Amino acid sequence: MRGRDGNSAIFSGFHGETFNCPAEVAEARYGLAVDSMTLNPEQGGEGRWRGGKGIEVNYRVRADGNFMTVGYTRSRVPPWGLAGGADGTPNFVEVIRASGDRERYSLASGVIVNKEGKRFVAEDSYHSRTSAFVLEQPDQTAYLIVDEAHTEMPEMPLIRFLDGYETIAEMEEALDIPAGNVVATLDRYNEFAAKGEDPDFHKQPEFLAPQDNGPWAVFDLSLGRAMYSGFTIGGLAVTVDGEVQRADGNVIPGLYAVGACASNIAQDGKGYASGTQLGEGSFFGRRAGAHAAAHARG
Ligand SMILES: Cc1cc2nc3c(=O)[nH]c(=O)nc-3n(C[C@H](O)[C@H](O)[C@H](O)COP(=O)(O)OP(=O)(O)OC[C@H]3O[C@@H](n4cnc5c(N)ncnc54)[C@H](O)[C@@H]3O)c2cc1C
Repeated sequence: MRGRDGNSAIFSGFHGETFNCPAEVAEARYGLAVDSMTLNPEQGGEGRWRGGKGIEVNYRVRADGNFMTVGYTRSRVPPWGLAGGADGTPNFVEVIRASGDRERYSLASGVIVNKEGKRFVAEDSYHSRTSAFVLEQPDQTAYLIVDEAHTEMPEMPLIRFLDGYETIAEMEEALDIPAGNVVATLDRYNEFAAKGEDPDFHKQPEFLAPQDNGPWAVFDLSLGRAMYSGFTIGGLAVTVDGEVQRADGNVIPGLYAVGACASNIAQDGKGYASGTQLGEGSFFGRRAGAHAAAHARG
């Protein structure tokens, strides 16, 4: 936004996984006490126009067996400042144990391979993009490999844990991957991950961690075995005001299309990110409505 400071405490209304849960609801339902909910007090985002501040929520666990699932990015690489403005601050989830020990977590450190044992996508891609690449792999088969140091068993798994393997050779044999291919893939990945680099797929440094500490866990990302939910992307060609176009580009007067049946921003799964559809549906829907109203008024 030009000409003023950014908005603070922004939640995306169009991003299905981003919720602003009221403290009262969290306390009533989740066995938590919400000790504080404040604007992030850390420095960051300074400049002529200041970036908006994020929020900091402190939960205290009040019940046994409590767990939290969370997905987020920019846990180490901060959002960058524009036009000389300072970078923002990283996102993080920190668990503070009763002993005072503190632990931080981040996602996507593992390696995804196809049935040839070869990588084919940056593992920190949005899941729609990852799954679109899985569909192009032989037999639409893919495995997520995570070493012992980085394995966490999800409480609500969307992808099935296949097995743990003491050696890579054992894993290759069990998964019918040509012998030596996963070894070669992991050797190359680990060599560069140790330096914070991924020259092959450009996975962000914050998610790069060598997977060299066996045993290794394997999760099944294959189509038909992992959870895939699909919806329509791309559709009728339309103008920026939602008027449906013929193949030659001419509009069909009075016919509008917006939302999932119109071709606006994302044209395929690789180009999709959460929020794109409801965002474009409401943005272009408003434009189409205004255009139709103006047209009706003559
Ligand atoms: C699991 C899942 C998660 C998603 N998460 C997100 C997210 O986090 N963020 C995001 O932005 N988007 C998300 N989406 C996508 C988003 O929900 C859809 O893109 C959006 O709802 C599309 O809205 P729409 O009004 O264009 O179409 P729809 O919601 O599909 O509405 C079309 C309507 O037309 C009706 N209809 C169809 N045929 C006829 C007919 N012949 N006659 C009469 N009525 C008919 C249907 O019953 C339906 O009610 C998600 C989708 C799915 C499936």
